[in-house]
Amino acid sequence: MIIHQNFTGGNIRIEKQEGNTFYLNNQLRDTTEDWFYWAFCIEAAGGKTVTFKFPPVRLGYYGPAVSHDLKKWDWLGKGDDENSFTYTFGENENKVYFAHSMLYHPDRFYEFAKRNGIEIKELCKSGKGRSVPYITIGNGKNIVLLTARHHACESTGSYVLEGVLQELITRPLEDSSVICVPFVDFDGVIEGDQGKSRFPYDHNRDYNIGQESIYPEIKAIRNIADKGILYGFDFHSPWHFNGGNDNVFIVEKRPHKKAEYDRFGMILESLITEKSMKYSLKNNVPPNQGWNSSKAPCFGCYMNDIGKAKIAFTLETAYFGTEDNIFTQDRAVELGKCFALAIKKYDKDTI
Ligand SMILES: [Zn+2]
Repeated sequence: MIIHQNFTGGNIRIEKQEGNTFYLNNQLRDTTEDWFYWAFCIEAAGGKTVTFKFPPVRLGYYGPAVSHDLKKWDWLGKGDDENSFTYTFGENENKVYFAHSMLYHPDRFYEFAKRNGIEIKELCKSGKGRSVPYITIGNGKNIVLLTARHHACESTGSYVLEGVLQELITRPLEDSSVICVPFVDFDGVIEGDQGKSRFPYDHNRDYNIGQESIYPEIKAIRNIADKGILYGFDFHSPWHFNGGNDNVFIVEKRPHKKAEYDRFGMILESLITEKSMKYSLKNNVPPNQGWNSSKAPCFGCYMNDIGKAKIAFTLETAYFGTEDNIFTQDRAVELGKCFALAIKKYDKDTI
């Protein structure tokens, strides 16, 4: 048996092994507070029954996400207790991935782009020299800026983003150009970093007005926004779980935009389909409530204040959801399609 993190998004620490029981934890790397993301591959465990134990706040409501190909993910189901799970490997089941949540592999995005005839372009070189991808759709005058993974581990947002793009490619918003940066913290996504609360600050805190960005990706995104945008939407995952973190919600940043957040939220709620993750306007987080400081720099603030967007915000999509609203890959993509329809209705109603 071997447990490793040698794949895109891998992140694991083996604390100790006792027979067929592994004590595991994640690697925080340069994250300055406790965080919960992990993902590992186990090989050569065919025919064995193995137990995996974690510290608290590492496993979600439905056990780990499990995959055999890093493409299709399922919930294994509740484990022995809330901090451990046991898996019996089939005789020939010799490569299995387990993760905190359902990973979104960048290859899935490249395949999506190819299927839709969209060219992948280079936004910039990342801090570690990788080519950071971005795409554009259409050539209208109004810029719709779409981003995800300002925080590397937040894969639920990537599924929603894919759904948004699919709808806007099939039935575009009039007079618009979509500019999309699907993996803002690209190095972090590839290397399996938490990405949240990086030292000295993370990508979403690199929008200090009047101060140069430290991350090349944010510098490039700001250059786009500085010319003015119509809309800016950024897709995230919230904290691990509990309370509001189990929902889909809009993070409101500017009190004077309250009516616009409400109008968008009402439209989105009305367009949610049976197949979609649920969204309710009442779950939005108003500015300066709890953790939501309107003073901290972020995408939503920058796009509002400098990009002069009609509306700009972050949409958070739970990692696990709730019994009546469980996260799946398909339901998150469908949420994205509903979200794109909401953009179009919001836009039409404005004129
Ligand atoms: Zn985030």
